[in-house]
Amino acid sequence: MKCIVCKNGECHPGHTSKMFDKQGNITIFKNVPALICDNCGAKFFDDDISKMLLQKVREIRKNGSELEVINLQAA
Ligand SMILES: [Zn+2]
Repeated sequence: MKCIVCKNGECHPGHTSKMFDKQGNITIFKNVPALICDNCGAKFFDDDISKMLLQKVREIRKNGSELEVINLQAA
């Protein structure tokens, strides 16, 4: 897949970290599957992954945790 950000690079499957900061409640996901551009480094998540991350962020916020680190590869 061609990168839609720089329009030059090629996107390759890989893993990255993604942080959500919602009103001071920080959630960090590690080893998130993503397509990463080899030129500009832009990261693209597919819809299922994005939905899953947002769902988890919502669950964690209910617990009132201020900082949560979730390693998706360990799960
Ligand atoms: Zn790019």
